[in-house]
Amino acid sequence: MKPINELRMTFPSRSANEAFARAAVAAFAAQLDPAVDELADLRTAVSEAVTNAIVHAYPDELGPVTLTVQLYENGRITLRVRDKGRGIENVEKAMEPLFTTGGEERSGLGFSVMQSFTDRVRVRSTPGKGTTVTMDKYIALRAKARP
Ligand code: ATP
Ligand code: MG
Repeated sequence: MKPINELRMTFPSRSANEAFARAAVAAFAAQLDPAVDELADLRTAVSEAVTNAIVHAYPDELGPVTLTVQLYENGRITLRVRDKGRGIENVEKAMEPLFTTGGEERSGLGFSVMQSFTDRVRVRSTPGKGTTVTMDKYIALRAKARP
């Protein structure tokens, strides 16, 4: 299925851009007329993925983060967050609840949050090359008001 609309943007892994990514996703997804709680779920999920790119992918430097949002006629929204950072050695392990390499400051719940706030999460990662997190969320299509 082809998306009916698509947004793609690349920004440096500055922490200020986490709030920007969240707001951009919400504004773009608004076209599908999501419910308030669906919009909140999308904002939370994208925020976790972008935060991971900022904090873990590029721990000591800035690097590019590319966010793609695709909207589909059937209400599917696909969010993709890609970095070219250090990558993840063991994705399965990294996705386990409470697993973190972030020490005391992190709780290791980011992937769990992404999984509970969207319908599907896929992670592809190559150590030294980068990570791509793809999330699908289906929002309920509401009957459009007739003109
Ligand atoms: P929290 O999200 O609760 O603050 P966290 O970021 O450690 O803690 P997750 O978001 O679940 O927890 O991520 C788990 C681990 O996966 C991270 O500690 C890190 O080792 C690794 N990881 C996640 N995203 C990336 C990424 N984009 N690049 C490199 N490593 C990552
Ligand atoms: Mg995290």
